[in-house]
Amino acid sequence: MKITEVRIFQKASADKKLRAFATITIDDCFVVRDIKIIEGSKGLFVAMPSRRVKEPCLNCHHRNVIRSRYCNQCGKQLEVVNRPMSEKGDDSSRQDEHRDIAHPITVECREYIQKTVLETFEKEKSNLRKVDQE
Ligand SMILES: [Zn+2]
Repeated sequence: MKITEVRIFQKASADKKLRAFATITIDDCFVVRDIKIIEGSKGLFVAMPSRRVKEPCLNCHHRNVIRSRYCNQCGKQLEVVNRPMSEKGDDSSRQDEHRDIAHPITVECREYIQKTVLETFEKEKSNLRKVDQE
């Protein structure tokens, strides 16, 4: 697998840790969008596109973002599912709430994508064009 194109987009965002988005093209024929470039405590890292996991309200079946206290549709208090907090802290609770849509399955591939995306980001970060929210 070869990444043949990386495009970096900066978006106006309240989240200061989210530095930019990337779109990569693999082997000139497959595109993955919404890769996030995030400023972590140990430097920049790349997060693959993900969606928030949702759970249905028992009362009205509206699907709420996981760990919501009250239903967004009917206002009923949602049953708090007893999930043991992981000792790993914030990072693993994020993984409970977000599920990757596309992701590498080997360490080598993950590192290759991260290195390629971050190198392009470093090269382009001084003159990134801002794009509107999609
Ligand atoms: Zn409800």
